[in-house]
This record gives sequence, C-alpha cells and structure tokens, in this order.
Amino acid sequence: MGGRGSCYLNFYDISKSTSGDIDLFDILESAEEDKDTEKEYNGKTEKLKQKNIHIKESTDKIPEEIFLPNVYKIDSLTRKYTDTTKILGKNEKELAIRSGKMPSNYAAAFFHDGTKFDNLQIVFNKDLTFSNKDIIEKRSEILINKGEWIKCDKEEYVNQTVTHEFGHYVQKVLMQKDLNTKQGRIRYDKYIDELSKATNIKERQLIVKKYSEEYATKFFKSIQRIHRKHFGKENINNLSEYGKTNNREAFAELFTNLNCSKEPSTLGKATEIFLAKKMSVKNPRIKKEFDKNKK
Ligand SMILES: [Zn+2]
Repeated sequence: MGGRGSCYLNFYDISKSTSGDIDLFDILESAEEDKDTEKEYNGKTEKLKQKNIHIKESTDKIPEEIFLPNVYKIDSLTRKYTDTTKILGKNEKELAIRSGKMPSNYAAAFFHDGTKFDNLQIVFNKDLTFSNKDIIEKRSEILINKGEWIKCDKEEYVNQTVTHEFGHYVQKVLMQKDLNTKQGRIRYDKYIDELSKATNIKERQLIVKKYSEEYATKFFKSIQRIHRKHFGKENINNLSEYGKTNNREAFAELFTNLNCSKEPSTLGKATEIFLAKKMSVKNPRIKKEFDKNKK
C-alpha cells in the first residue's frame, strides 16, 4: 500500500510547510478496521453509502456541529458533480470519509489518491484542536485574511477543508475519465510502467506525484486560458499562498473558492466553466453570467 496524499495545512508556521505532500504509511494501516459509522446524520449516511461514499466510525468523535455541515457539503457536491459518484459505481470503488492521526500537527485533513483509482479516502485530523467550531472559524478567518487560504464565505468556514479535499478528489475523477481518451491511455500506461520499475516507496511516491501534478498543470493552464477568453488576464494574487505551492493545490483551492463563496473570483468562475466542459455539472451557477459574456 502506501502512496502520497495532499494535506491541507494549517499555517501555524508556514516555514514548517510540507507543500502538501505527506507520507501516509501510518495512517492508512488502520483503514481496513474502520467500520461504517452507525450515526445517521439525518439519513445522509445511507444516501451517501448508496453512492459508494462511506462515512467511517473514526469520524464519530468529530463534534456534530462541524461534521454535520461537512456531511451535507459532501452530499451537495456529489449532487452537483454527479460524475464523482457515478465513477465509483462504474469502477466498483468506494470513497471513505475518515479521521486519523496526522503526520504533523499542521495538517487539517488530506485526500489519499492511491497509485491507481483506489483506496480513495478523505481523512480529517483526529486531533481535537481541529474539532472545535470556534477555533476552526477563527483560524479560517485569520488564514483567509492573510491570503494563505483561498477566500470563502463566513458561513462556509466550517466546510472549507472538506471542500478543498473534495477538490483533490474531483481532479482524480477527471484523471480517471481521461483514460477514455487515447492520449490519456498512453500517459497512464507509461505511468504504470514507471511504477512497476520503481525499486522503493520513495520512488513510487515521486512517480505518483509527478503523474498527478502533470494533470493538475494541464487543468490549471486550461482554466487560465478560459479566464483570458472570458474575463481578461488573470490576477494570480487571487490564488491563495497555499494554492501557489503547486498546481494540485491551485486546483483544490479554486474548487473551494467556487463552491464556498456566493461570489467566487473570476478564476473560480473560470474553474466552473472548465469543469462543465470536462464532466457533468448540475446547474452550473456561473452559466448565466458566462452566456451573458458570450454575447
Ligand atoms: Zn490540498
């Protein structure tokens, strides 16, 4: 097993940033014993399970005032981006929503994207300091004002992290969908071939990261092109510091801005146009504005 994950850092101290890459060995070992939760979350647990998204019992300790909005957020994102759950059924895979020990105190959560389309997990830091709504809201406000995290509405502070991680998952879904194209298939075969030749876990991690970053770069460039076409030259300062660490984080941050703000930035809006081209998006909210700009 093993692999790498993108973690969402809490910037107590940016000098200790690991730029979103962490080693996941310890955390993933306990994944198999993590049973589905018995909490119902107003029926959402079952609804999500039918869509192959499993809320695990390790999340039971997260206070409901935080976790219930997160569960609702995941549900609403799966209804907006329907391919995110269709693809799970098609590939007979599950996405687990879990809580676990983090390799550093700086990570709030991470998404594990496996070496193939497997072992999909969104994992929250089980440290209780990340499980207090007041603390989360205060910290989010500070980080957003400092420009470390991307802009989002106050009432969505509690959902910022889960939306960011879901953004990484959406990137993974787009990569998986790309296997239906000839180019995508060639890229994938080369990647699997490189993986098979790797002699140790560090090498494997680098190959996985490279494959994922290549896609993120391609996607980010498309978003920039869309931006120039519809909104003019983009201002990179609209991206958070965290989003500037690499293109995977840029993608996740723009996804967060788009889905946690009533008024996303133009880069957030360009991201929605990009997504609507690449996958099914129910009622893309910027569509009206986009059509207006087209005229
Ligand atoms: Zn991230």
